[in-house]
Amino acid sequence: MAVHDKDVVIVGAGPAGLCAGMYAGRSMLDAVVLEQGLPGGELLNTEVIEDYIGFEHILGSELAEKFQSHAVKFGADVRPYHRVEHVRRAADGAFETTVENGDVFRSPAVIVTAGGTPVKLEVPGEIEYAGRGVSYCAICDGAFFRGHTIMVVGGGDAACEEADFLTRYAAKVYIVHRRDGFRASKIIQDRVFANAKIEVIWDTVVEEIAGADGLMTHARIRNVKTGERRDLVATGAFVFIGFRPNTGIIDGHVEHDAAGYLLTDSNMETSMRGLFAAGDVRAQLTRQVTTAVGDATTATIAVEKYLAARRNGTPSPSPSATLVTGGSVRRAGQP
Ligand SMILES: Cc1cc2nc3c(=O)[nH]c(=O)nc-3n(C[C@H](O)[C@H](O)[C@H](O)COP(=O)(O)OP(=O)(O)OC[C@H]3O[C@@H](n4cnc5c(N)ncnc54)[C@H](O)[C@@H]3O)c2cc1C
Repeated sequence: MAVHDKDVVIVGAGPAGLCAGMYAGRSMLDAVVLEQGLPGGELLNTEVIEDYIGFEHILGSELAEKFQSHAVKFGADVRPYHRVEHVRRAADGAFETTVENGDVFRSPAVIVTAGGTPVKLEVPGEIEYAGRGVSYCAICDGAFFRGHTIMVVGGGDAACEEADFLTRYAAKVYIVHRRDGFRASKIIQDRVFANAKIEVIWDTVVEEIAGADGLMTHARIRNVKTGERRDLVATGAFVFIGFRPNTGIIDGHVEHDAAGYLLTDSNMETSMRGLFAAGDVRAQLTRQVTTAVGDATTATIAVEKYLAARRNGTPSPSPSATLVTGGSVRRAGQP
């Protein structure tokens, strides 16, 4: 086990973490970006990005590579396969970030950019057709399904809102829901029922995603009351059955919303002094690459000012007085 002293520790090397690393490097901060897998985050699960300004069409993996090389060029110390087990505040006030191999990184500030994880159906074909029909993000992938027949899985606000949104592109949208009623709020349900392009298939679960030539063509579905199985022809399956922010690594209480997303002030500082959050892990209106890098920019500049104020003995006011919630959270697969 080794102990390393840093100015700031960044947890996660998705778009937010890599952008924070780039800004930290440019600011001459001694920073480390700890990533449990390969750098890139959800970009590595995204076939094509068409809404990152300046790039009309770019592979997710290619954008991830550009983010990483840009961050490294400006001095970011990005460490793949460094899974963070916990972040806790030591008795002397410093944060201690412990990695799986036992190494500990001590720092006065931490930026949590650990993102979130869409809840999966966990049926055969889901992984095989991810990005080839299966999606967890309507705003990201909806435009690829212009004129198609697609399905949405789920029955909460996200599923209903996104089904309605997807009818801008799709010719027909099935909502496959395992119960005989939605959990979504009444106003959203009314919108679904008034939309002639949407057909709801109640009491039904997806058992398999299937396709041909590498693209989804249909799903095998089963009625949970009658046991009847059939194939539903659809070239897309948008799964909205939940989204979990990766916040379990933080020891101690940090203010969060009902779904567990971290609340921050406008400088991206959480209710725990010195602990900042950026990107998908944060409570906000939408979750996109643009918002992740925007958050990370703010967070890193704020960290720089926070460290300078500590050195000068002029700490800024506590963040808890000005925490902001994100308003209605939608558009990236989260409930
Ligand atoms: C299928 C899909 C398609 C999408 N398409 C688009 C699109 O077209 N356009 C768009 O703008 N947005 C799109 N998005 C959303 C976009 O990918 C996210 O908003 C963005 O990646 C968020 O960046 P982030 O850095 O906050 O989180 P993430 O990208 O989730 O990165 C978090 C990183 O933290 C790491 N991590 C988590 N826990 C730990 C730990 N304990 N220790 C170390 N590392 C950890 C993860 O491995 C990951 O690399 C899409 C999302 C999905 C799921």
